[in-house]
This record gives sequence, structure tokens and C-alpha cells, in this order.
Amino acid sequence: MSLLRKHVATQQASQPAAPATAAESLQQLITTSGQASLFAHTEFVKKVECSRCGAAKRLPSKTAYLYCDHCGSLVDYDFRLANLGTNAGYTNTIYRQIVAPVQAEIDRARAFQDIGRYRDLNKGVYLEWLRQCPQAASPRVASDDDFRERMASYLAECMVVRDFDPDLAMLDVQFNMAVRGLQRRPMPNGQPWLVSDGIWQVATLFKQEMEAAYKLLEDRGVLAMDPDEAPSGVPIRMEFSTFCQGWIPHLLPEQADHLLGMFGLTSEYARVNVTDAETRKCGGCGDELKVLPGAQAVVCESCGRKLDIAGGETPCQTCGAPLSFPVAVSRIECPYCQRETHRI
Ligand SMILES: [Zn+2]
Ligand SMILES: [Zn+2]
Ligand SMILES: [Zn+2]
Repeated sequence: MSLLRKHVATQQASQPAAPATAAESLQQLITTSGQASLFAHTEFVKKVECSRCGAAKRLPSKTAYLYCDHCGSLVDYDFRLANLGTNAGYTNTIYRQIVAPVQAEIDRARAFQDIGRYRDLNKGVYLEWLRQCPQAASPRVASDDDFRERMASYLAECMVVRDFDPDLAMLDVQFNMAVRGLQRRPMPNGQPWLVSDGIWQVATLFKQEMEAAYKLLEDRGVLAMDPDEAPSGVPIRMEFSTFCQGWIPHLLPEQADHLLGMFGLTSEYARVNVTDAETRKCGGCGDELKVLPGAQAVVCESCGRKLDIAGGETPCQTCGAPLSFPVAVSRIECPYCQRETHRI
């Protein structure tokens, strides 16, 4: 999810010919990248190590959020998988619908420097948006009310810090002017329009603004509010990824490579090689997941709960299904027989 610029640059720049959905633009990215094999996400896994426990990521991920196979911490964000199946166009539409009725009040709070009011209004918008569109954020917001609440607070605080900082406001004005100055070359046969060379200035300004914003968020302690406890550097890479995904369909392949290089997003992938994984059943949603030997905790990609693996499986007291309980939870409703069951 893009914290600071939810309405990606292309939203403003591309009214007529933008791809209808993010999945569509990703499809275009795939076909224009010349690296189709990289996108088979079951075959490749991003080479990354957990900054918390040091374990290398070995299991493929279904979502763009890569959680550690051993401790369940967020370790990275996979550019290839971002927005795949999440339909960013839809989630942006919902966001606009939720914000519309309170927009005037938000603007007033900003104009009068009423930071408390501004924070509350934005938090309300984010809470409702995450409730309606959990797929737009970490899989963990789907089932965990406390996590969702903390995520909304975090997002609102990011907004507050960004919108009340005069230097950032100036950078934002420059960025928006550069976006408006872009020219679009229409292409035949319904292909996406191509963007003029002004894109390099847009990208440079975007990078500057994001670097300044994240430095400020770091200095003010806002990044520490992230309930996903994203490792340092990961959130800004997510912004960069979202930005690149918005523009890549409108670039020639060599320009796309250049853009990815500007943002340091040309990372390496390794072929998945896992023969020692075991199957566990999520005590929250009942879905099956693969776990590696020695894993302590993992995040269920279906429901987003962090599951206690080290504690072993607990058979359901009614149906006997072996369940992995969510971390720090001792009582659940069995996802198979819907009866309450608890740890022994
Ligand atoms: Zn870890
Ligand atoms: Zn689950
Ligand atoms: Zn049961």
C-alpha cells in the first residue's frame, strides 16, 4: 500500500487512457518486461533475509507482503506481486467514496491548522477503507481488529506529518506541476499511451519528496507506529514500487528498466527449492499452509493471522482437526466444525 500518495501519480495524469485495473497494468508490465518467467510467483522467490531473525526467505508468497518463514515478521515487499489481484483501481474508488462526504471538513481542519481534528477525520476514513478493502493493505488487516485500528492510526499520522510540513508541501507542489506538464503520445491499436521525457523529472521529484517524507516520518517516530513493523527501508520501497507500476505501462522497455534502476528495484530472484516443508492448518481460517522446520511463527496468507508454529498443533476437541493457533490466542472457533476449542 502506498502510504503517502494513495492516489498514485497516474491517477492525476492519466484520466483518458489509464489501464482499468492495476492487474491490467501489471499484465502490461509482464508483457513488456521481456522477463515473463520472473512473474511466475510460484516458481521464484525474492532473495531476502529477515532483518529480525536473519532467516532467508525460501517459501513463495501469494501476496506482495513477504513475511518471514521463521518468525512471521514482515521482511520485504515483492514488486512483482504488488497489486496482483488486489485491483488498486477499485480500492482507490472506494477510498474516494469514503473521503468525499468529509473532504470539506478535512480541508477546513487543514486550513485552520487543527491537527487533532485532521488526524481524527483521516483516521475515520482509513478505518472504514481498510474495513471495506483489506486487500489494499497487509493481509493482516483482514481479520485482526486491533491490527486494523493500529494501521489506521499509523496511516492517519503519516498524513498529518506530510500535510503539515511546509517543505514537503513545496516539493508536492513541484511534483504535481511536473506531472501536469507531461505529454502523452497516443498509440495505435488500443495500446497504452506513451509518456514524454518529462517523466524523468517527475521520477526525480517523486524520489526527493518520498525521501524527505520518510526521513521526517522516521525522525518523528511515526514509522515506529507501523503495526506490521516493516524493516527500515521497506515502506519507501513500497512507494517506489507503486510509482513504477503506475508508469511502466507508459514507457518503452528500456525506459522501464531505467526507471526501475533509478529506484533500485532491480532485485534478484531465486528459483524456489523447498523439499522439507510441512503442512499446517490455520486455526483462524482453516486454510492449509506450508511451514519450514524450526519455524516459530508464520503469517497465514489467506486470513492474515500470525500463527504460533513453535507451540505445535492442537487437535480440535470436537472434530480432531490438527490446528495451529494464532499467536497469543488460546481459544478459537474451529474453522472446520465451528465449535469452540482451546489449547490444552
Ligand atoms: Zn524472521
Ligand atoms: Zn488463516
Ligand atoms: Zn473442529
